[in-house]
Amino acid sequence: MIPQPFEYHAPPTLPEALALLGEYGDTAKLLAGGHSLLPMMKLRFAQPEHLIDLNGIAELRGIREDNGMLWIGAMTTENQLIWSDRLQQRCPLLVEGARQIADPQVRYRGTLGGDLSHGDPGNDHPALMIALDASFVLRGAGGEREVAAADFFVGTYMTLLEPGEIMTGIRIPVPAAGTGYCYAKLKRKTGDFATAAAAVVLRMSGGTVEYVRIALTNVGDTVVHAVDAEQALLGKPLDARAVDTATRLAMAACNPAPDLRGDADYKRAMAGEMTRRALNTAHDRTVK
Ligand code: FAD
Repeated sequence: MIPQPFEYHAPPTLPEALALLGEYGDTAKLLAGGHSLLPMMKLRFAQPEHLIDLNGIAELRGIREDNGMLWIGAMTTENQLIWSDRLQQRCPLLVEGARQIADPQVRYRGTLGGDLSHGDPGNDHPALMIALDASFVLRGAGGEREVAAADFFVGTYMTLLEPGEIMTGIRIPVPAAGTGYCYAKLKRKTGDFATAAAAVVLRMSGGTVEYVRIALTNVGDTVVHAVDAEQALLGKPLDARAVDTATRLAMAACNPAPDLRGDADYKRAMAGEMTRRALNTAHDRTVK
């Protein structure tokens, strides 16, 4: 289908984008890579009268590190994440996750900020961001605020972004040396969304789990943060029994919807299996 007509705006600066957003309010939509928004417009699930294109705003791109914190501009594309030597060295989980998103064409245009702002439970970055303890910088006419990834996603296509706000950047504490990580994703074919996926970050100390994050993709109304599974692992050796317990608790946290990728029981089982694989791989990658 063809989208309804709209007026196109390409502001060169963030203040101009915010002013346009303020002027057109509910009738406007921000355009990043367009790989989620344009399909919705073609299906007429979204019918904006104004499109505000963020692609010309230089300050929304780039990857920097300062005082142990990574800053990634919201308009940074998947391929820019994948090609970043800094991320490869300092935050390889993000590179591993981005490599598994969609297909090469989508990864040329799709952005980190767009993937997060869309609030789709099938998107991979929400789980990666929760696993990495990331936070999001949101700018509105009244100033800037920062929201933790663990709080940001509130339902299907629902986030804490307020009308009039733009996500400008993503902040990630650089994982400590020796941190293990893994993004295990089951998909039917290249370019598909996850049937189920698990993001894990893990640190061991003296043979026991000192720190762990587990977050799951596409097995609930929104990303699932498997807090009970994390709690069960803390202070214990990561042996087969502990992994079994965490897997069971992660499955209990899921509430998947049946679709062409499988019924709810199958998806829950696959969420468990992805959790198990991600925990074991992350463990193998820790420097003990
Ligand atoms: P857009 O589509 O431009 O925008 C999405 C939404 O976010 C819009 O509502 C827009 O207004 C809003 N928005 C965008 N940027 C901002 C911002 N900075 N501040 C506030 N609001 C903003 N994703 C995955 O994670 N995993 C997959 O496996 C996957 N497979 C895909 C397969 C195909 C064939 C396609 C077409 C897409 C797939 N996607 C997948 C989605 C893809 O990653 C999208 O690029 C992503 O969801 C949206 O990013 P975008 O930059 O394209 O944003």
